Amino acid sequence: MKIFDYLQEDNYEQLIFFQSKDVGLKAIICIHNTALGPALGGTRLWNYQSEEEAIEDALRLARGMTYKNAAAGLNAGGGKAVIIGDPNKIKSEELFRTYGRFIEGLGGRFITGQDMNITLQDLAYMNEETDYLAGLEGKSGAPAPVTAFGVYRGILAATKEVYGSEELEGKKVAVQGLGAVGYQLCRHLNEAGAELYVTDIVEARVKDAVDEFGATAVGKEEIYGVDCDIFAPCAMGAVINDNTINQLKCRIIAGSANNQLADRKHGDLLMEKGILYIPDYVINSGGVINVYEELQGYNRERAMGRASAIFDSVTRLIEISKRDNIPTYLAADRMAEERIAKLAKLNSLYR
Ligand code: NAD
Repeated sequence: MKIFDYLQEDNYEQLIFFQSKDVGLKAIICIHNTALGPALGGTRLWNYQSEEEAIEDALRLARGMTYKNAAAGLNAGGGKAVIIGDPNKIKSEELFRTYGRFIEGLGGRFITGQDMNITLQDLAYMNEETDYLAGLEGKSGAPAPVTAFGVYRGILAATKEVYGSEELEGKKVAVQGLGAVGYQLCRHLNEAGAELYVTDIVEARVKDAVDEFGATAVGKEEIYGVDCDIFAPCAMGAVINDNTINQLKCRIIAGSANNQLADRKHGDLLMEKGILYIPDYVINSGGVINVYEELQGYNRERAMGRASAIFDSVTRLIEISKRDNIPTYLAADRMAEERIAKLAKLNSLYR
């Protein structure tokens, strides 16, 4: 792997390797861009099959965080960390405290929190050694309600674009996945008078949504073909793929799931079909907004206020998509890049 070629191609700032044989720690931190502020991104613990795989994951995820944080209007850059190892075997207080010391050594260029296989207890161990953490127990709390509210606001903006008004009364919304985010999203949609079609692999969750929101239960494969206005994927990634794209009857796709497009070509195809796709990282940024608020002294109302502004971000990315005649997934990237470019100029002013 030609690391500098890779770093230069997407203008990565820094790639850092940490290890401690004593505690079994092998960690990689990637800082993609800090033009807007300290790099903010979670730490993932994963049993990577090779070092290359771990490096690639750190690079890819760090870059994604730059875009997500910029699009959310945060004064935060993008970074991500990966720890290599089996989550069932390597965890210990010593390991996370050692890792915390390394984070501290970066002096605040990188602020991290939970990602896959990192628990609140693991963060608490890191916190013994560093303050550069977000998402600690007892601070901002579960992000899902804020994420769900942000998705709801994004749906309103998309509805306004397609139907000329943000009125959801009588609109049919198909929600895939009734977990932490999907269920709360249903609550908002139901309160706004939407007609819900829902699916989940856990039947009890479907039953709850039927009982509480008067939703119609749909099979897990049938959800794609529901004759609806809005499809909200809130379960897993790659749901817009070669098999599903021709089943869709919706006018809007807007949900919380990460990496909804199996491939970029599916984003192009959605545009051709006249389906408005709201890119995942813009509409689901309520979670990172919530965590970011901690850095300024957490205030739930302010977090909800910022999540509410996802309405404006979605409106803006739709404008860029129309202005430049590009699919929305590219317009989202452009929106983030434009913000970084504008604000990076501030650095030319001495204060
Ligand atoms: P969750 O695990 O609480 O919920 C996911 C739900 O999807 C579960 O109820 C699960 O049973 C269901 N599901 C799984 N496979 C399914 C299938 N094939 N068909 C239908 N349902 C299925 O997760 P969550 O926190 O609600 O997150 C949902 C999505 O949003 C994930 O992709 C997550 O990465 C993304 N996301 C979440 C947040 C957040 O704040 N929690 C923030 C940003 C993005």
